[in-house]
Amino acid sequence: MTDQKNKTPRFVFITGGVVSSLGKGIASASLGALLQARGYSVRLRKLDPYLNVDPGTMSPYQHGEVYVTDDGAETDLDLGHYERFTGVAARKNDNVTTGKVYSEVLARERRGDYLGATVQVIPHVTDKIKESIIDDVEDTDFVLIEIGGTVGDIESLPFLEAIRQLRNELGRDHTMFIHVTLLPYISAAGELKTKPTQHSVKELLSVGIQPDILLCRSEHPIEEDARQKIGLFCNIKQEDVVAAPSVEHIYGVPITYHAEGLDDRVLNYFDLPVERELDLSRWEKIVNTLQKPEGEVTIAVVGKYTSLLDSYKSLSEALIHGGIANEVLVNIEWIDSDLFKQEPDKVTPYLEKVNGILVPGGFGERGSRGKIAAVRFAREHNIPYFGICFGMQLAIIEAARNLCGIEKANTTEFGPTDEPVVGLMTEWAKGAEKITRTHNSDLGGTMRLGAYPSKLKEGTQVHKIYGKTDISERHRHRYEVNTNYLPQLEEAGVIFSGMSPDGELPEIIERADHPWFVGVQFHPELKSKPFEPHVLFTSFIGAALANARLV
Ligand code: GLN
Repeated sequence: MTDQKNKTPRFVFITGGVVSSLGKGIASASLGALLQARGYSVRLRKLDPYLNVDPGTMSPYQHGEVYVTDDGAETDLDLGHYERFTGVAARKNDNVTTGKVYSEVLARERRGDYLGATVQVIPHVTDKIKESIIDDVEDTDFVLIEIGGTVGDIESLPFLEAIRQLRNELGRDHTMFIHVTLLPYISAAGELKTKPTQHSVKELLSVGIQPDILLCRSEHPIEEDARQKIGLFCNIKQEDVVAAPSVEHIYGVPITYHAEGLDDRVLNYFDLPVERELDLSRWEKIVNTLQKPEGEVTIAVVGKYTSLLDSYKSLSEALIHGGIANEVLVNIEWIDSDLFKQEPDKVTPYLEKVNGILVPGGFGERGSRGKIAAVRFAREHNIPYFGICFGMQLAIIEAARNLCGIEKANTTEFGPTDEPVVGLMTEWAKGAEKITRTHNSDLGGTMRLGAYPSKLKEGTQVHKIYGKTDISERHRHRYEVNTNYLPQLEEAGVIFSGMSPDGELPEIIERADHPWFVGVQFHPELKSKPFEPHVLFTSFIGAALANARLV
């Protein structure tokens, strides 16, 4: 019995109050990293109160990037933070949304599984949420569960009710509540205000949850009297009011939270030894490099969603990781491709001074002319070019139009075309299973998603970069380069250096007549970590650095 109980992971629930955008995702990821540094295994999950089944159908303008897991789920971008901070590959069942929960409850109801019961939020929806929380976490020491949204939102109530019940069922020794709040600084009074935090805790108490730790974001140090006040009004020990000051680099957050005592307080709560050795050297090294870079490079990211940088979160992080590997600072210039929509020749002032050009993943025709102009500029001016997913497809179209003379070359994503150099993938191989899609298929969850293997051609640039021939990378796209055009494209200098194992789908292209020109059909940025930068980003930033030294 005791043995059995000891195997139950410890669940740490992280809620947020006062305002949104407090950085709960980074806070959860950093706590995960700290517990790992103490030698514990961790798993992180996100519960999202919105009704979409997954964020795959949401505009990146609204919800930031869609993070894709190896097992092919389209998930919340916070799962990207979790993976970047802990290195633990996120899985499909690590992102639970209201939409997903309700779909399953309603499917069960239709099957008749509820045996005539009236199906209700409590217990049926809350039971399903609890199942998703505790499912598939055996052999993990800590499971950190972040609840999206802000306490007080109508949508989050079933989730809060579910975690309240879990505390009751699993006991205090296996559950903990951390509430992330904000202490605003009022300059006229010259002090941090604790009232919003008190109100937010009241809100939590009204649904039966007493936080065990308050993680207080603030731009100023939290004085003793403020801690006392918060402790008194929120029924919390003063030492469990932990400061979460803003830091210069997000990768410094684990170090800062440790200094503020967060991991000590969590271990103390669970009666675990705090004297266990802690190795933060991984984070110290990263922060040192970020603080004292040996040079800098400027990369232009030419895309459509450049006004909301969260749309390219993994990408900007991966570029920074490439910088860490080369010990340089990476300045990212976000360039809206619509700027050179009308006159592609106008690209020069935007791109002539940059050391590398990257066209990221994207959807739809708007902005594509400018992106193609950027590819051409990079190719003709020997500027390192990295095309990711859409960025590879547009590099193919650019080569077809400007080097092969196929003027009408296009992708069927933009409508019917006589020269479908990039076309709808109507069939592809996933193991023995064949999946078929048409133009009329649902848009949700029907792309080529998740990890797929590729074979690299020996002796090519990417083969040298990866140092092996068999790789696996994450995909999220509907269209593919049409292999019927391969001979013409090869004639024009495009090297197809990576293909799907059956040789049907082009996965990577490069050029021999250019210092660094690589296009990939997958999203390497999703697997890059600050302590293990993705080799393609390391190599790309290396090439940009060589370019910077030339100019
Ligand atoms: N729109 C393209 C496709 O669906 C590329 C997608 C992407 O860049 N992720 O194939």
